[in-house]
Amino acid sequence: MTKQSVALLGLGTMGSGMAANLLKAGFPLAVWNRSRAKAEALAAQGARVAETPADAAHGASVILSMLADDAASRAVWLGEDGALAAANKDAVLIDCSTVSPAWIAELANAAEARGLEFLDAPVTGSRMQAADGQLTFLVGGEADALERARPVLEAMSKEIAHLGPVGSGAKMKLLNNFLCGVQVASLAEGIAWMERSGLDTEKALDLLKRGAPGSPLLANLSARMMNRDYAVNFYLKLMAKDLTYAEKAAAESGVELTTAANARGLFERATVDGYGDKDMSSVVEVLRAK
Ligand code: NAP
Repeated sequence: MTKQSVALLGLGTMGSGMAANLLKAGFPLAVWNRSRAKAEALAAQGARVAETPADAAHGASVILSMLADDAASRAVWLGEDGALAAANKDAVLIDCSTVSPAWIAELANAAEARGLEFLDAPVTGSRMQAADGQLTFLVGGEADALERARPVLEAMSKEIAHLGPVGSGAKMKLLNNFLCGVQVASLAEGIAWMERSGLDTEKALDLLKRGAPGSPLLANLSARMMNRDYAVNFYLKLMAKDLTYAEKAAAESGVELTTAANARGLFERATVDGYGDKDMSSVVEVLRAK
């Protein structure tokens, strides 16, 4: 069976790993990235480097985006030479970025106005899972559109969770990152406290990992914080963005995320202090004794 042709817009930490897996699985792939060098790097693996989002979208059966935030997604789908206006009538459009449900609703309406199928499908998993094809897609939208896109999503994932109508994926992703962001912020405060208190940090962390607060996130992030290894898996500035979107989305359901607001404050402070373009684990540095 011939493989569907795919376009992927956005080749950052996550998009570049996703593109590599689509190529490995044999999908004809057009790629576009604002900074062209990241796209050129995939040409050697067989990708067509497009000039614009519209150029990438031309002729593709499935068009994916993996972009920083609402503004980036808006620019790439609806801006000058945007992908939406260039999409084939039978294409499935999928935004995999972590964006707000309000923006997803607007984008889905724009797609519907052109008679195009649209899914929101943000992911859990980070740089390594994107590179290894082990992401989990959190999908909102029509089941038949998902079935058409499934072979493409399968090439990049270990799980595809269909959560309901358009917007369900975006909401689920923000709920997930709300819980992660609050835990990272409290872990940073815990480590700073531990270090200043005179406790044996190795023993204390070992007990925490094996105790009730232990989680994959605590194990992973505490190691990076202790080793001061801030190679980027997830830009710190993106967590501040996700918590902002989570607070707004929860408020639309009548829930105030007070713990998210506190955690966001810490990530914003770290961004001002110059850690926005480092891994989110570097948030601990603003609390460490200098
Ligand atoms: P990233 O490395 O910062 O990549 C962001 C991408 O968005 C790049 O391709 C960037 O282009 C593009 N972009 C930013 N602003 C733009 C604009 N105004 N117009 C056009 N393109 C623009 O981020 P990432 O880690 O790959 O994350 C991508 C999305 O997935 C984000 O929504 C993030 O929250 C989410 N996510 C990340 C992780 C993770 O662990 N990293 C995990 C799950 C979900 P340039 O290369 O030109 O800057």
